[in-house]
Amino acid sequence: MRGKGKGPGPGLVVAVALGALVAGALALRLGSAPQTTSPAAVRSPAVAASPLAAAPPPAAAPTSSPPGAPVPPGAPGRGAAYQHDLATLEVPPKLRLLVIAPHPDDESLAAGGLMQQVLEKGGRVHVVFMTSGDGYPEAVALATGHRQPTAVDYRGFGELRRAEALVALEHYHILPVSVTFLGFPDGGLQEIWRRGPHVPAYQSPYTHGDRPPYPEAFNPHAGYTSHELINQISHLVALADPDWIAVPIPVDTHPDHCATFTFLLAALKSLAAEPGGDSKIPDRLLTYLVHDGWWPPPPSVPGPLPLPPVTFPPARWYSLPLDAAQIDAKLAALESHGTQAAMMDRLFRALARPNEIFAVVERPDFARLKPGEPPCGPELRHAEPGPQPAVVESPRQPAPTPTPADAERHARVR
Ligand SMILES: [Zn+2]
Repeated sequence: MRGKGKGPGPGLVVAVALGALVAGALALRLGSAPQTTSPAAVRSPAVAASPLAAAPPPAAAPTSSPPGAPVPPGAPGRGAAYQHDLATLEVPPKLRLLVIAPHPDDESLAAGGLMQQVLEKGGRVHVVFMTSGDGYPEAVALATGHRQPTAVDYRGFGELRRAEALVALEHYHILPVSVTFLGFPDGGLQEIWRRGPHVPAYQSPYTHGDRPPYPEAFNPHAGYTSHELINQISHLVALADPDWIAVPIPVDTHPDHCATFTFLLAALKSLAAEPGGDSKIPDRLLTYLVHDGWWPPPPSVPGPLPLPPVTFPPARWYSLPLDAAQIDAKLAALESHGTQAAMMDRLFRALARPNEIFAVVERPDFARLKPGEPPCGPELRHAEPGPQPAVVESPRQPAPTPTPADAERHARVR
């Protein structure tokens, strides 16, 4: 952890350590048991305790292949049993955490438990939403009853998702002052990056805006250009001065997720080049996966999230165990994203588990990363897995075979 003596960033609010949250009676309640932790920031894989981790034999390293690709029967990491025995991530006290979410709901799907643990240990959390999730035609049609939604419908939907996100974050006791909406176009981030900095602003095919159509946006007058987005993220990082940043992993198959990582990396490199900016660079990037086609396991497969079949060098996967109260709060937050819960309940339940997992990149490794690599969307190629903590194959886990319908549904969600 870095910056013990730093004062709070202007965009942050001092969060109160909350202790255990009151557990609610929730329909989505998942069974779990708190897991032990060690004093070390990262526990050795050899002593990591997972309820489903069992005895050897050790499993082979996971394979990498394009999302949705046919899976050979018994292929390690896919056709075989899921692998669970990840190194455990422990949250240090008084941590400053910045969570960057492409869409409202990603913050809770990926890091609802992480945010709670940071706050419970006297830390601070700020959440940045890249988009307001206003480019989801099926969900807008469901919400409005309009088979062919108009630009006004899409903008109204963006406002609704913003409101849902604020309610969701209340479950973690995160106040609106600690939340920033950039208002960039849902579904347009990859294209904005691809166009480069010196082009006319991108226009959303949904809201028809070429700048945020929301007065609450961080800068509603800024055009949809990569130059503007990089500047905004760089500014927000400087304000938050985080120790850790949680951000989508670049091998996520959703283009907005992949592009979010790219923009953050470009922003960090821009910030580091400014006088004094290097002191604002976080110690760690905690990258998270939401969309992979074959991951997470379907809700019918119980237990903690296993090792994903993808990664990128130099990241290493870690697991963050959640206790029962943290799971309850996370489920309540997810239910607050009502427009999304109605569209992808299955993914919500698949990710609401007794742990969250992150592929962690340490600061010394930032220099090895280049914005735009790996590329996003159709150009995506899964990187070869880097060195991983020791893993074991759990004989208690069945060998679920995701169906093509699973992959298709996962690919559709935002
Ligand atoms: Zn998303």
